[in-house]
Amino acid sequence: MEFKNTEAFADALDRDDRLAAYRQAFHFPQHEGKDVIYFTGNSLGLQPKSAARFVNEILDDWKELAVEGHFKARNPWWTYHERLIPPLARVVGALPEEVTVMNTLTVNLHLLMVSFYRPQGRRFKILCEEKAFPSDQYMLQSQLRYHGFDPAEALIEVRKRPGEHAWHTDDFLSAITAHADELALVLLGGVNYYNGQVLDMETITRAGQDAGALVGWDLAHAAGNVRLALHDWGVDFAAWCSYKYMNSGPGNASGVFVHQRHLNDPRIPRFEGWWGTRKETRFLMRPEFDPVSTADAWQLSNPPVLALAPYLASLELFEEVGMEALLAKRNRLTAYLEFILGEVAREAGSRFEIITPADRGCQLSVLLHGEGRPLFDYLMEHGVVPDWREPNVIRLAPAPFYCSFRDMFQFGQVLREGIRAGKGR
Ligand SMILES: *Cc1c(COP(=O)(O)O)cnc(C)c1O
Repeated sequence: MEFKNTEAFADALDRDDRLAAYRQAFHFPQHEGKDVIYFTGNSLGLQPKSAARFVNEILDDWKELAVEGHFKARNPWWTYHERLIPPLARVVGALPEEVTVMNTLTVNLHLLMVSFYRPQGRRFKILCEEKAFPSDQYMLQSQLRYHGFDPAEALIEVRKRPGEHAWHTDDFLSAITAHADELALVLLGGVNYYNGQVLDMETITRAGQDAGALVGWDLAHAAGNVRLALHDWGVDFAAWCSYKYMNSGPGNASGVFVHQRHLNDPRIPRFEGWWGTRKETRFLMRPEFDPVSTADAWQLSNPPVLALAPYLASLELFEEVGMEALLAKRNRLTAYLEFILGEVAREAGSRFEIITPADRGCQLSVLLHGEGRPLFDYLMEHGVVPDWREPNVIRLAPAPFYCSFRDMFQFGQVLREGIRAGKGR
């Protein structure tokens, strides 16, 4: 499609957008009486307007029923988390039995390492990408030290080629081959938080497994943003947070995927708690652990129902819209943003460059070659909410659920004004 950098054209794209009405389903922060142009759905998704109703239901049931709410609430709390599973499984391309919701992301990665990082003899190394999200680096380093290894030796980081901004799939494959008989685990971010790149999860998973390693994915920036087929790709395990593209609210619960072939396998170690035992006998309070036959076996505690409520509100929207429709809008919206950026760069002669490769979700990372921070500040002061990453990158993630084509056009106008005002030189 031939794009135009005009308000009329952006409005026409919005009229043609089947999801345009979903903007009304979310609360927007206000700037001078208008909705901000929100580009940080990759950091904290907007609040679904329905979230308050879901939370209030729990508060009311707690007020009126107290402990009886576990079994007698409108949506009984002891099985509340089960309501999130089918819609969430559809978002990540999993069987419902392969998915559970619990804890937070870094905690879950640690718990999954108990099950899936099992160094043996020479096979003790972990392969990840260079400059993984800091929490993942800390997690991996501390796990290795806990097992008595030196991260400098045991952690293999796949680098970008000199002067390039994205990884090559081939470089993952050759690193896997080079270390084939030493690799215990491959653990990577499915979508890189910095450059927005989507890794070829299917190919890398197969290569890692062919080398005899287990393969897990951190999907923090992938869930709700890109097409995932975790079951069909044969991924061993994965985890993601829900407050980014999944719009569940700050610090909210994480999702976990464990492939069907690892369920009910007594050889796989696991840290356990009472919420992983079978419902039928859980309240008999027996000493022996009788695991649920699904990924719920990895649950430890009874879930934070008040936190799950807004997550469920959000998942109902995902269920209504469907990933395919979201992905179709995402492609067009991000392409339009890319076009607008190109137009502004051309007109203003400003030196910035999109470092996100063609394999991408909705995020575009823009590297500013001059002084970036004043331009970022200018955007923030003018009703645009992007995000800043050192040393000189602005990340723009137009979430297809609630961002409009008009937003992209108006952003272009603000950006051009900012550059004209002498920022971003
Ligand atoms: C956002 C993000 C996290 C955050 O971890 P929490 O435990 O939820 O605080 C971890 N890893 C990646 C790759 C992320 O993008």
